Amino acid sequence: MALTPMMQQYVDIKRQYPDALLMFRLGDFYELFFDDAITASRALDITLTGRDAGSQGRVPMCGVPYHAATAYIEKLVDQGYCVAICEQTEDPKQAKGLVKREVVRIVTPGTVTKEAGDQRRILAALVRRRETCGLALADVATGDLWYAESSQDQLRDWLAQWTPAEILAYSSQQDWVAGSAVDEWSRQNGVRISWVDEPLDAPLRAERTVCEQFHLPQLAALELDDVPVAVEALAAVMDYLAATQKQRLAHLRVPKNLASRGHLVLDYTAQRNLELLESGRGRQKKGSLFGLLDATVTAMGARMLRTWIERPLADVAAIEDRLGAVQALVDDFFLRESIRETLREIYDLERLAGRLALGTANARDLRAVGQSLAQLPSLEDMLRDASSDLLQQLMRGLPEFASLSETILRTFVDQPPLGVREGGLIRDGVDAELDRLRTLSSSGKEWLTQFEQQERERTGIRSLKVGYNKVFGYYIEVSKANVHLVPDTYERRQTLAAAERYVVSELKQREAEILTAAERSVEREYELFCEVRDGVVERLTDLQRVAERIAVLDALCSMATVSAECRFTRPVIRAERGIFIQQGRHPVVESAHPGTFVPNDVRLGDDADLLLITGPNMAGKSTYMRQTALIVLMAHMGCFVPAESAVIGLVDRIFTRIGASDNLAEGQSTFMVEMVELAQILRQATNRSLVLLDEIGRGTSTYDGMSIAEAVMEALLSPDSRPLTLFATHYHELTEKADSLDGAANCSVLVRESPDGITFMHTVVPRPADKSYGIQVAKLAGIPDAVIERAAALLKVRETAEAGKSTVDAGVETAAAVDSHGGSSSKMASPDFSLPLFAWRGESVLQALAELDVNTLTPVAALNELHNLVEQAREVLQWDKSKYSRQT
Ligand code: ATP
Repeated sequence: MALTPMMQQYVDIKRQYPDALLMFRLGDFYELFFDDAITASRALDITLTGRDAGSQGRVPMCGVPYHAATAYIEKLVDQGYCVAICEQTEDPKQAKGLVKREVVRIVTPGTVTKEAGDQRRILAALVRRRETCGLALADVATGDLWYAESSQDQLRDWLAQWTPAEILAYSSQQDWVAGSAVDEWSRQNGVRISWVDEPLDAPLRAERTVCEQFHLPQLAALELDDVPVAVEALAAVMDYLAATQKQRLAHLRVPKNLASRGHLVLDYTAQRNLELLESGRGRQKKGSLFGLLDATVTAMGARMLRTWIERPLADVAAIEDRLGAVQALVDDFFLRESIRETLREIYDLERLAGRLALGTANARDLRAVGQSLAQLPSLEDMLRDASSDLLQQLMRGLPEFASLSETILRTFVDQPPLGVREGGLIRDGVDAELDRLRTLSSSGKEWLTQFEQQERERTGIRSLKVGYNKVFGYYIEVSKANVHLVPDTYERRQTLAAAERYVVSELKQREAEILTAAERSVEREYELFCEVRDGVVERLTDLQRVAERIAVLDALCSMATVSAECRFTRPVIRAERGIFIQQGRHPVVESAHPGTFVPNDVRLGDDADLLLITGPNMAGKSTYMRQTALIVLMAHMGCFVPAESAVIGLVDRIFTRIGASDNLAEGQSTFMVEMVELAQILRQATNRSLVLLDEIGRGTSTYDGMSIAEAVMEALLSPDSRPLTLFATHYHELTEKADSLDGAANCSVLVRESPDGITFMHTVVPRPADKSYGIQVAKLAGIPDAVIERAAALLKVRETAEAGKSTVDAGVETAAAVDSHGGSSSKMASPDFSLPLFAWRGESVLQALAELDVNTLTPVAALNELHNLVEQAREVLQWDKSKYSRQT
C-alpha cells in the first residue's frame, strides 16, 4: 500500500513508539493520525477530521496548535496516556524534499513536569529479587531520588504514602506484579504501570548506570553497595528517564534512603490518622499539621517542611541544631522577617534546575535564576552573626554566583517573552553584533516608511501602501481605482479583488537587507540565550546546593514564625526514654478554636508505660492522644511545641490505630482493617516506640472485643516490646485491669453532670471514668427524645439486672473472662445482653429475697413478704411460660 512520503515517515516513526500517542509536528500544528487520532479526539474532545494518506485514501486525523500543546499534552497524560512529541528537526526552508522529523521527548504521567508548589509528581520503579523488593522514587521536576529495599508487605504502604503517578516494572515480572498489592493499588487509583524490558545482566548493568550517572567509581560512595535490588530500581528509573527525555538528566540528585536510621518512622496509617499532611475530612492541607506549620514563602521551603514532617529526625544533636536555629529566629523578629522578605524574591530554584536539565528553560526562567541568586549576598549578611550555628553555616561556603547572576540580569530584558526563538529577549548594548543587526533592521524599516511616503507623492496615489507577505516579500499595493496612475517602473506581481500588488527593483534590494538583518538578529539572540543558558547548566549542582540551603532556611523560618505566633515552647530532647509534657495542646484544634482549648499533662515512661484513657464520647480522648503524638513529632522535627514545657525522649516510630475506616474495595471490613493495623503494631513496636490505640475491639461482640483489648494491653506491657502507649477505651472493665498491671495507669477525661445534661471539661485526671455517658452524648447529638428515653429505660433495666446477676454469678468464670495465662478475671464479667429477659426478672425476686433482714421482721410482716415474693415468683414463671409457649 503506497502512502504519501510524509505519511510513510509518520508510520515509520509511530512503529517505534507503539505505546505512546504520537504528536507529529506539521507546521504550526501537532497532528495525530489513525487510531491515535481517534483516541486523542475523544480524550481531548476535539474534532476528528481526515487526511489523504495516498492510495489508502483518507485516514483519521486530529490536531492541536503547537503554541497551546502543553495543556493538551497534560490533559492526555492526566488520563494515563503517554505522548511522544515528534518535531521537525531541520528548517523547512532549507530542507531538500521531506523535512526531517524525530521524537524529541516522551511525556508520561510520571515524567510530566507541571508546576504545583509543594506537591510532588512521583515516578516509581519496582524490582523484585527473591523475597526482597527494591523501590526507587523520582521527582523529575526537582531531580530528587529516593530508594528502599523492603519486603513485599510494605509495598502498599510505600505506594499509599508516595502516591506515584506512574509505576515502572520489568515486563519479565508481570506475573508477580499482577498478583501483588501493586497491581491492586494501581487499578484502584488509576495509575499506569509502564512495563520496561529487563536488561541482560541487570544487576551489573544497574550498578554501572548508577555509578555513571553520579560520576563515581563504585556504589559504596553512595552507600548503595548493600542494596542491589534498590539499585536495579534506581537504574530502571534512570534508563526510563533517558529514554523518554532523550538524554541523561544532569539534575538527578544523590538518592536518599527511605529506610535510613536517624529518622523517626511514620507509616502511611500514622500519617493519615494524625492528619499530618491532609485533614481527615476533605483531604485538604488546611486542617493538617502541615497546613498549620507552613508559613514558608518559597515552594522549595514548603517541600522541605513537608519532608521534615514525613521524616522527622531521631538524633539529639541534629534536632538541637534545628531547635537552636528556630530559637534564634523566634527571639529576633526583625531578623526573621527580613529573611522572609528576602526569600520572597527567590524563585523555585529546584524546579528551575530541573527545567534547565530537561532543556525546557526559557529566558524568563534564566532571569528568575539570576534574580534569585542576586539575593544571596544579603542573606549571607543577615546570617553572618546569627546566634545559631546552623543559621551561620547555611550561607557560609556557598559557591560564588555574583558574576553569573550579574550576566543573566544584564543580558535579558526585564520581561522576556515565553518563546526563545522569536527574539525580544536580549537587552541593547549586550552584544555588538546584535546591536549592529538591530540597527540595520530598524533603519531598514524607517527606510520603508520613507519609501512609502515618497511613492505616494511621486504617483499621487494617497492610498498606496507598502506591505509584506511570505510569498512575495515586500510589495506596493494600489487599489483598483488608482491602477491607471501606476508608473511603468512598477512590476505587477499579484492581483486581488480590489487591488493590485507591484514590486520595484529598489524595494527588492532593500528587502534582502532588511530581512536578513531581522532574521540574523533573532538568530543571534538565540545564540546569546544558549550561551548564558549553557553557563547556568554547567553550574546545576551548585544551583541545587543553594536551593537546598534556601529550602532549609525557609522551613526553619516557617517553624519559627508559627512557634512565635502560636506561643509554642522549646522542648528538651533527650536520648533517654520517656514523654513528659506539661499543659500540652493540640496545635490544629487549638488554632481552629483559639482561646478555648484546655491543656493537659502527659507522663509516660517513668511510673507508667501505658495510660488507659476512659471517658465519654466527645470528651477529648482522641484529641489528647493525637496532641501527644504531634508534640513528640514536632519536637523530633526540631520545632517548638504547643505545651508549657516538654521533655521528650527519642522515639523510633509512632504507631496509630485510631478511627474507623474500612477498605471495602479490598474486601476488608472496618474490624479487619483495625486488626491488620493492630497486628502490625504488635509485631513491630519497640520500647522506643509511641503507640496510640483508640477503642481496640470495638467492631465485634462485647466479649470478643474486650478480651482482645485486654490481651493487647498485656502484650504491650510485656518486657519484649513495652512501647509507650496511650490506650483509649470504652470498656470500663479494663480500668481495674490497668490498676492491677505493673506499668499501666488509669486516666480519664472529666465531664460534669447536672440535671440539664453533661458538660465536657476536656481535663484529663489521673483516675478512671465512672461511666460512659453514651446516652447523654446521643441526646446532645439530637437523637429523638423518644429514643433517648427508651435507651435510658433499657439501660436501667440492664444495670439493675447486672447488679443482681453479679451477686448470682460471683465466682463463676465465663469463657471470655479467662485470661491468656489461664487465670480467671471474673471481675471483668459484664452484662451479656443476649441473655433472655426472664433471667433478669427472676433475679429481681432473688435480690428482694436477699435484701430481707429476717432478724427485724415480725412474724406477720414475714408472712406478708413471703406472700409478695411468691406472687412475684409466680408472676415471673407465669410470664416465662407464656413467653416460652409463644416462642415455640
Ligand atoms: P469518641 O470517643 O467519640 O471518639 P473522644 O473522646 O475521642 O470521642 P475527641 O474526638 O477527642 O473525643 O474530641 C471531641 C471534640 O472535643 C473535639 O473535636 C474538640 O473540638 C473538642 N476537644 C477535645 N479535647 C479538647 C480540649 N482539650 N480542649 C478543648 N476542646 C477539646
